[in-house]
Amino acid sequence: MKALIWQGINRVSVENVPDPELIQPTDAVVRVTATAICGSDLHLVDGYVPSMAPGDILGHEFMGEVVEVGSDVKRIKVGDRVIVPFPISCGKCWYCQRGETSLCDNSNPNPKLAEALWGYSPAGIYGYSHITGGYAGGQAQFVRTAFADENLYKVPEGLTDDQVLFLTDIFPTGYMAAENCNIEPGDTVAVFGCGPVGLFTIMSAFLLGAERVIAIDRFPERLDLARQCGAETINYEETEVFEALKFMTGGRGPDSVVDAVGLEAHGTGVGGVYDAVKQTTRVAETERPHAFRAAIMACRKGGTVSVPGVYGGLADKIPLGAFVNKGLTLHTGQTHVHRYLDRLTDHIVRGDVDPTVIITHRMPLDEAPEAYKLFKHKHDNCIKCVLDPWADPKDHAPMKASEAMPQAND
Ligand SMILES: [Zn+2]
Ligand SMILES: [Zn+2]
Repeated sequence: MKALIWQGINRVSVENVPDPELIQPTDAVVRVTATAICGSDLHLVDGYVPSMAPGDILGHEFMGEVVEVGSDVKRIKVGDRVIVPFPISCGKCWYCQRGETSLCDNSNPNPKLAEALWGYSPAGIYGYSHITGGYAGGQAQFVRTAFADENLYKVPEGLTDDQVLFLTDIFPTGYMAAENCNIEPGDTVAVFGCGPVGLFTIMSAFLLGAERVIAIDRFPERLDLARQCGAETINYEETEVFEALKFMTGGRGPDSVVDAVGLEAHGTGVGGVYDAVKQTTRVAETERPHAFRAAIMACRKGGTVSVPGVYGGLADKIPLGAFVNKGLTLHTGQTHVHRYLDRLTDHIVRGDVDPTVIITHRMPLDEAPEAYKLFKHKHDNCIKCVLDPWADPKDHAPMKASEAMPQAND
C-alpha cells in the first residue's frame, strides 16, 4: 500500500510499504477513505517530538471502511463505515471507565519513554511517535486499528466523509478546549490561534453558551473564517493584544483564554527571540510558549486558561506569579475524543456546525509532501488539507483555496 513516511526532520515521502495485518484479536483493519494533516503532524515533521524513527507512518485523523476484524471483535463488522479517534482506548482501565480515554493505561505498548518524560504514560496515539506507542498512522491506504470495539465509531448514514472526518480529533479537541473554559452565560472567551483547532474552539464556545468570542491570529484568511464563525478578531501584527482584550472587555479581561497555538508559537519581542533561539537546539527548550504566556497575562482575575495546543517537553519563563496571584485555573490535556462523539455528531446532523468550512485543500495522498509544505507555510491560504489515499494524481487538479472558501461576507 501507499503511505506517508517520516524520513527525518523536515523530510516526508510517499512510499510503497507492506499492508498492515491484524496483530491482536481485538484489532481491525480499515481501508482509509479520507485523512487529514494536523498541526500536530507539523511538530513531528519539524522534529520537536522525540522518538520518531525513519519509516514511521504519520497521520492520526482518518476514517474509512472496515475490511478485516480480529476474532474477538464483536460490535464492529466488516463493511462498517467508521471514524477512528486519535487516542486509543482499551475501554476497561480505570481511566477509560471514567471516560478519560486519552489517559488510557493500556494502549501504549512501550510506556517507558513517556514515563521517563512525564511520570506516567498517556494513551497510545496513531502516527504520533514512539512515546505514544509507535502505532502506524492513517495517512495511508490501510491502517491497523487497536481495540476496535472500543474505538471505531460508526458514521450515521447520510453524512459525508468531509462532515465527519474531523470528529477524529480537531472538532472534539476544540469542543473540549471550550468545555474546559467552564463557560457561564454572558462569558467572553479569548482564543489565541485561528487554525483548525482554534476555529472549532470558537464554534464550540458558542455552542456552550459564550456570549462573545475574541479570536487572535495574524493571517487574514483565518481571521475572516473566525469572523464567519461569529468571533470578533484581533490581528496581533497590527494591534497590541493585551491592551485590545482589556479595552474590549471593559477593563476586566476575558473570562477564559484558550491557547490553541501550542509549542511553535510565533512570538514577537524579546520572549519570542529567546524561545526561537533556545528551541533550535531542541534540548534547552522544546517549546515556544508565547501564546501560553500571553494567555496567562490576558486572562481576567479568577479566570480559566485552557490549553488544547500541543506541548511536549520543557518551557521557560512561564509567568507563574501572574498565574498564582490572579487565582487562575488551568485546564489542559489531550482530548477524550470518545466522550464527545454522539454529542458532536448530533450537532453536525442538526446543522449547528458545518465542519467542512475549514477545508481549503484536497489532494491525493501521493501529493502529501507538497500538502505538508503548503500547510506548514500557510501558502495559498491553506487552513486544512484533506488527503485521498486512492485518488490518482494524474487525473487530479488540486482544489484551490479560492474554490473551497466561502466568501468573507456570505
Ligand atoms: Zn490532529
Ligand atoms: Zn484504557
